[in-house]
Amino acid sequence: MDAPRHFNPDPDAPGISEVPLEQFYTEAVCLDLSHIPPKTDITVSDLGRACEAAGVEIQAGDTVFLYTGHHDRTFGTPAYLTDFPGLTRESAEWLGRKGIASFGVEAVSPGRPGKNNFEVHRVCAEMGFTHMESLMNLKELVGKGRFRFIGFPLKIRGGSGSPIRAVAVLEG
Ligand SMILES: [Zn+2]
Repeated sequence: MDAPRHFNPDPDAPGISEVPLEQFYTEAVCLDLSHIPPKTDITVSDLGRACEAAGVEIQAGDTVFLYTGHHDRTFGTPAYLTDFPGLTRESAEWLGRKGIASFGVEAVSPGRPGKNNFEVHRVCAEMGFTHMESLMNLKELVGKGRFRFIGFPLKIRGGSGSPIRAVAVLEG
């Protein structure tokens, strides 16, 4: 989990120990983006279509998981670090306008390496949300509607991020 301090140049940007714990205990949805080819962009219309397909509406305060199949496709190979689809400035802004708490991806970064990844982090700083990287087992959450996300970080004073134990609680 990135803390705002990781991507916001403001010296007062919160470290991971200063982010309210509510941000890590939220309602959540998972979008199926596994049809998006590696090394391409996840666009605004991809996100909109995935919401429709999942029958979910992103609400303020949600955590949004983006399932791409990247983990199963590449974990343990060099491609894990490079061959994934990613958000763009526009698609990150689309998530930000929904008022989300954070989003989570399987890849090591939310945007493709370089310009896109920099811009996605910049959008998080500008719009006040954050993200998780290197998640797995998101496939289990596809088609499950709304669920509870729990992902508390370690209390690393002023830290720019933290490992989390990411848990989804499904009803029934
Ligand atoms: Zn990040």
